[in-house]
Amino acid sequence: MPPDGSTLKPLVRDLAGAALLATGLTRPSRAARDRLTIVTFHRVLPGSLLRGYPLPEIAVSVEEFRWFAEYFAAQYTCGTLAEVHRRWLAGERPARPLLAVTFDDGQRDGFEHARPVLAAVGIPASFFVPVHGVERDELLWHDRMGYAAAWLLRASRAQASALLGVSGSDPHAMLLDAMERAKRLSPADRLALVARVEAAAASSVRPAWDGLMGWEQLRTLAREGHEIGSHSVSHPILPLVDDAQLELEVRGSKERIEAEVGAPCETFCYPNGDCDARVVEAVRRAGYLRAVTTRWGPVAAGADDFQLTRCDIEARRARDRGGRLSRPRLALRLSRYFPGPTP
Ligand SMILES: [Zn+2]
Repeated sequence: MPPDGSTLKPLVRDLAGAALLATGLTRPSRAARDRLTIVTFHRVLPGSLLRGYPLPEIAVSVEEFRWFAEYFAAQYTCGTLAEVHRRWLAGERPARPLLAVTFDDGQRDGFEHARPVLAAVGIPASFFVPVHGVERDELLWHDRMGYAAAWLLRASRAQASALLGVSGSDPHAMLLDAMERAKRLSPADRLALVARVEAAAASSVRPAWDGLMGWEQLRTLAREGHEIGSHSVSHPILPLVDDAQLELEVRGSKERIEAEVGAPCETFCYPNGDCDARVVEAVRRAGYLRAVTTRWGPVAAGADDFQLTRCDIEARRARDRGGRLSRPRLALRLSRYFPGPTP
């Protein structure tokens, strides 16, 4: 999980955040007027499920999500990425700046827990879905690994340690360490490791509530005004696949989503944020109008439409030193004065 790039101590950060917001420097109407802000969420879970979710760093609670959504609705002009990007390119710079809320990976909690909040605050959002995941109700590798490794770490620390190649006394730190190591493996080696860890864990460590949205749920979202974009077919690291596979992942997913959802699929989201010149060109050629990465930052004028940057939202980064969600903290983080998390 990305470490915080700021070296400021929490107290200084709170005081600086409050002072900058009070003077208006980080207020979105000023700090983001000439920017297009795209925020990213992964998981939105009720507290009872969040406590059992192995990777809480990429999840927010329903209450936290509501707090963020209300802030965005009050401070920004929100819409699907398709809509706000179109307005942005047309030169619109409203007093409340343009912002899009995006969700990666198509998990069911987006439908069950984020959707009611989005409806309540009146924000249409963009959901990027991997076609195989949707059709097979198959969790992505990081969740499969997370559930299985967390189970194993509880059941047998020694076995988990040997299998995952990590050591330590804090199981959660060991889990995060194992995830980082797995990220650096080749895709084939990573999937083999996930399979080994799953085989070593109990037969069913994935909780019944977790899974991906199906086409019917995606059609409902589209009908309600949300955007459904592509997150490829099988969520591979695209620069590593050959030309034929790349075409299938990019063009094939667009055609499948449009046929099933019945709406244009015009935004692509690179799995793991990874792209190179060949991948970007394939996305452009397939007829998409834009694509998003996982690189940090609000989008400035003149940016490449096929490498749009985003701001990944983590609730703990928006909390002050007392643990409360803090508007000055969030405003500072989303402003141009925040350099972004270090890689
Ligand atoms: Zn993804």
